[in-house]
Amino acid sequence: MRKDHFEVTHRDVLGRVGKLRTPHGVVQTPALMPVVNPNIEFIKPSEIKKLGAEILITNSYIIYRSKLREIAKDKGLHKLLGVDIPIMTDSGSYQLMVYGDVEVKNSEILNFQKEIGSDIVVPLDIPTPPDAEEELILEDMKITIEREREAAEIFNGCENLLAFPIQGSTNPKMRRMFAEEVKKICELYDVKPIFPIGAVVPLLDTYRFSDVVTSILEVKSVLPPSCPVHLFGAGHPMMFSIATALGCDLFDSAAYALYAKDDRYMTVRGTEKLEEINEFPCSCPVCSDYTPRELRSMEKKERAKLLAKHNLYVSFQEVRTVRQAIRSKTLFELVENRIRAHPYLLEAWRQIRKYGKLIETYDPNIKSRFFYTGIESLMRPAIQRYMNKILDIPPDKEELVVTDMYSNLKGDLYLRPCFGIVFPELIESYPAGHAEMPEDGLIDDMAIKTAVNCFLKYAEKYKNIKFIVKVSNRWNIIKELAEKRGLKNIVVERESNDELQH
Ligand SMILES: [Zn+2]
Repeated sequence: MRKDHFEVTHRDVLGRVGKLRTPHGVVQTPALMPVVNPNIEFIKPSEIKKLGAEILITNSYIIYRSKLREIAKDKGLHKLLGVDIPIMTDSGSYQLMVYGDVEVKNSEILNFQKEIGSDIVVPLDIPTPPDAEEELILEDMKITIEREREAAEIFNGCENLLAFPIQGSTNPKMRRMFAEEVKKICELYDVKPIFPIGAVVPLLDTYRFSDVVTSILEVKSVLPPSCPVHLFGAGHPMMFSIATALGCDLFDSAAYALYAKDDRYMTVRGTEKLEEINEFPCSCPVCSDYTPRELRSMEKKERAKLLAKHNLYVSFQEVRTVRQAIRSKTLFELVENRIRAHPYLLEAWRQIRKYGKLIETYDPNIKSRFFYTGIESLMRPAIQRYMNKILDIPPDKEELVVTDMYSNLKGDLYLRPCFGIVFPELIESYPAGHAEMPEDGLIDDMAIKTAVNCFLKYAEKYKNIKFIVKVSNRWNIIKELAEKRGLKNIVVERESNDELQH
């Protein structure tokens, strides 16, 4: 397996900004690949490039089965589409999923993709649908793995990048097992792999975002960190920040066109029906030049093209926003903002709690800021890391006064929501001292509870030290929990200047 086709330049959470090297040039990731159907005259590939696409995806099976086959063989894929940017080619797996059958053999479609000069080649994998029985998943897996092995043989030593789709339905164990198998094949050949996570479209279409998050994280637990990952079929901008934060580098979108043809308008917060929009919230050329009413009065085909352009603008804008958030290490803040667009996204993101160790491995140690945006911020590795570090710093006195960070009383230790205790000398440092959050009286109870638990652990570890706690009523829970744990070295005194109770 070769790794020089993907270089990571910036990281945050599990996300990365990188450079993907293909035979037709370097693509900045995360990248969105708009889907182009060579048989349907819609927005021209050259126009899509102008809108911001650095890479496209098309379907080699459609070309192979049509009169375009000879032109593609003769002139090559890039001349056929009229662009010089990298192009990924799908193999017909989608058709297999929708129609249950395709009239092509794996080796046939692979050699065709090679012949026409595809930059990223996909074997004919079998997309196992959601909620499949284990038996079916294993059966499909066996065939797909065999086809991926065949692909590795055909592309051994080639310059084309080769996709190794990872299926496994909605079964976390099977996703992981599939990723293990695929990894083994790659290691045996001189190939430049990318790893698409397959069959997520039916999950995205039905808002089963939790299953998507679990699928990604199971796969990421197995794959080498340096490998590019493609969330196959994810084309809605509302997913980009989350999927990137979980470690996906490539997306593809047929949605921009499909939605447009159905009069649907994309935003990072979801999809709107054109008939229900009074004014466009976006400033792209389409939304600046036309009002919703003007678009509605247009002929359908023209309207669909304009809506598709808007959908692409808003998608590329979000990709740039995500890349910038990675560079500034504020991807957690961006994601925690985006997940508030839909309750199922919120639910999905909370799945990361089960993958704390994995996220801890990837997420950078030092960032320039910590903005608390809600209880999801408590799941960031920065908090756990800080707590672990603090526990190893012994107190330097027999008796310590513990106060609120912003109290008028002088303390030896401060209590801060989220983090627990802060030593005066750490008050200027990341994360506990740096963090911006609502004041103690207005922050979520869970942030207080998290902090109290940290404090109690500390007091438990240093049992011979007396902690005299002088904090506002907001921290009342300390007394109760300390008694429950039998911690006699904590004495709670009411803070005299208790402003928060007024
Ligand atoms: Zn717009």
